[in-house]
Amino acid sequence: MIYFVSTLLVDVTNSTDGQITYIERSYQMPESVAKAPPLLIDAMLGTLARRLRWLGYDAEYRSDLPDDEMIRIAKEQGRLLVTRDRELAGRRDVRALFIASLVLAEQIQVVEDALGPSFGPARCMVCNGCLLALSIEEATLLVPPYVARTQTEFGRCDRCHRIYWPGTHWPDLMKWKGSQ
Ligand SMILES: [Zn+2]
Repeated sequence: MIYFVSTLLVDVTNSTDGQITYIERSYQMPESVAKAPPLLIDAMLGTLARRLRWLGYDAEYRSDLPDDEMIRIAKEQGRLLVTRDRELAGRRDVRALFIASLVLAEQIQVVEDALGPSFGPARCMVCNGCLLALSIEEATLLVPPYVARTQTEFGRCDRCHRIYWPGTHWPDLMKWKGSQ
C-alpha cells in the first residue's frame, strides 16, 4: 500500500527565555484516504474555523470548554486540535497544531502547510455541517427569486439547513467545490 507522510508542527515553549521551538511529528495514512484530518478549533480562532470549512476542512469550533475537555473531544473524535494556546499545544497527550499569528491569511497558510489541502467539498461555514446537493427545483422554493433565476448550483447544510450557492455568502473567496 502506498503511504504519504504529513508533518505536524507542535509548539513547545522554552520557559527560560521565551523562545519557541518546533517539534516535528510525522504520521502516515493510506493514500486512498489522503485528506486533511478532522480539526477541533480552539477559542479565538472562530474566523479561521469558518474559512477552513469553506475550504473543505472538517473544522469543529468550541470556545467554551476547559483544556481537558477539548483534549477529550479531540481524542474521542480523532481530531487534530488547532489552538493559539502554546501550553495546550505542547501537551503530550493530544495531537495539536499551534497557531501563533493573529493574521487570518497567515493562520490559513500554517494549516495548509502542515496538513495540505483538504480535498473535501466545502462545508457549512456556520455549523460545519456537510453541504448536500440541492436540485434547482427544490432550491427555487427556498431561495429569493433573483437567486433562483441566476444560479444553477445549490447546496444545503445537513445540520442547520442553510442554503449556499456559488459566489455568495463569502464573495471574496468565490470558491465552490460542489458537494458531490
Ligand atoms: Zn450549517
